Amino acid sequence: MADILDGKLVRDAILESLKPRIAALEELQRPPGLAVVLVGNNPASEIYVRSKVKACEELGMFSEKHMPTDDVTTEELLFLVRSLNARPDIDGILVQLPLPAQIDEQQVLMAIDPMKDVDGFHPVSAGHLMAGRPWFRPCTPAGVMKMLAHYQIPIAGKRAVVVGRSDIVGKPMAMLLLHESATVTICHSKTRDLAEECRRADIVVAAIGRPAFLTPEFIAPHAVVIDVGINRLKDRAAVDRIFEGDAARLAAFDKNGSVVVGDVHPAAFRNCAAYTPVPGGVGPLTIAMLMSNTVLSAEFRFGNPQA
Ligand code: NDP
Repeated sequence: MADILDGKLVRDAILESLKPRIAALEELQRPPGLAVVLVGNNPASEIYVRSKVKACEELGMFSEKHMPTDDVTTEELLFLVRSLNARPDIDGILVQLPLPAQIDEQQVLMAIDPMKDVDGFHPVSAGHLMAGRPWFRPCTPAGVMKMLAHYQIPIAGKRAVVVGRSDIVGKPMAMLLLHESATVTICHSKTRDLAEECRRADIVVAAIGRPAFLTPEFIAPHAVVIDVGINRLKDRAAVDRIFEGDAARLAAFDKNGSVVVGDVHPAAFRNCAAYTPVPGGVGPLTIAMLMSNTVLSAEFRFGNPQA
């Protein structure tokens, strides 16, 4: 039986570890502060932003939401970001992606003060990551590293295959695994024989955004499988195919009209060493690492009172 790597458990451990650091900052100056910018009304983004604000509230951190309308211009967003850069009570700025088509996304992300780049997407943050210097790491891959550490999964000398090469997940994931001395292969849509590449891996990280794409023949029995993918399925036939025999998921689909599936086929989890479920695996860690980066940012600013 494969072990389940429980993201909620690891998230709770991360958040618990932040509490004394937040209390110490509050005593020294003020609690850490996060500003979230959410453009327009994208329901998925609204859910993410709500959870981020809620996480701040639960930890006693300051947070505020800015919600420009869909027709905002790049210049207006740049003005907002610059005004947040200048605010002494804000440690972290997060611009929720995706942005509407008329916005120059890169220009907006580049405008965030690297000292407040708690998403870790700024080229300055990417440079620190490349150089292995302490700085804000992109939250999802950083959460995966916490998961591996929590379950004491050996990384040094292991063969890790990262499927996906996005700037926010795949590339930083590969770099973090490399820094822990894994032998890393990065795969993408032009990779020849992806199944063969994955089968050689001790650790597989799937981050492609294709429902249940990695089927059992991609996964070696000794592999640890990290499924970053979050795909919402609304097609009954696809749900029947993927979750055949899983009464609970089929009932969930009947109730809600959709279910979430990762990039790894559920059948592939049956014959591996350990895996992160979807939902409940990597997902909960992303917000925990955002909180962690915001606390770190305040500590950069005021000095770490606990050090
Ligand atoms: P992107 O769409 O930015 O990148 C997808 C990557 O997957 C690309 O590098 C692409 O290759 C590769 N890819 C696509 N199709 C294939 C294929 N058939 N074979 C091999 N590689 C393929 O996605 P993200 O990195 O932003 O997100 C990936 C997944 O992770 C999504 O499901 C997303 O929802 C999820 N996610 C989850 C988070 C969480 O908190 N758990 C946070 C962020 C993302 P190429 O470059 O060649 O096009």
